[in-house]
Amino acid sequence: MAENCPKCKKSINSKDPIIICNSDDCLKKFHRTCVNVDDAVYDAIQKNPLIAFNCDECKNQSPKALAAKLSTMEDKLNKVCNGINQIQGRMYQQYFQFGNANNVDGKKQTNNLIVVGNNCNSDRLQVVCDYGRWVQVGKFATSTSEDDVIEHLAEELKINKNLVKCTKLVKNDANLSQLSYCKFKISIPDYRFSELFNESIWPSGVMVSPFTPRSQLNQNRI
Ligand SMILES: [Zn+2]
Ligand SMILES: [Zn+2]
Repeated sequence: MAENCPKCKKSINSKDPIIICNSDDCLKKFHRTCVNVDDAVYDAIQKNPLIAFNCDECKNQSPKALAAKLSTMEDKLNKVCNGINQIQGRMYQQYFQFGNANNVDGKKQTNNLIVVGNNCNSDRLQVVCDYGRWVQVGKFATSTSEDDVIEHLAEELKINKNLVKCTKLVKNDANLSQLSYCKFKISIPDYRFSELFNESIWPSGVMVSPFTPRSQLNQNRI
């Protein structure tokens, strides 16, 4: 059955060099000469799976077809996300309902399903905590060490020493012996971070402020 080239409308003979449109919905055959595909281009298309020939019609349609497919995918994705949110919501609901359920005496039971450990005496288990924020604390005598600060906080906050992060802040070109004071960059796990702003844990006159990493100070471990 003779097929016609959609471009020139003439029949395609079995010996004519042809190329087929790569679009699954199309697959029309063209004379290569009618669609300006010379031997070099044809070779490249054959060798490289990332290159494909599409007829003019498909080229013009493809952005629309792609957009339609994308929007369908987006709809489906939204449905999946909504489903997940609903499930999550229900889980939390059950969690808290269960946690607040009345016990035998009819008294309200407090929700104790989520607790955060605060035993600062255990060094046996290594705990991984999130550290997102830092404070800058000063001014201290230059003889003050990072260990001094860590020790102090561990005692005041009843927190394990290993959980306190502290770095002495020293300017790049500073000569330590000439400095009149020093500051520290300090962090503790996120869930307790606000405690660093409790003035009663700091000696009189010490200033605590959020640490901004863009500050010109350079941190050196001493
Ligand atoms: Zn043709
Ligand atoms: Zn096509």
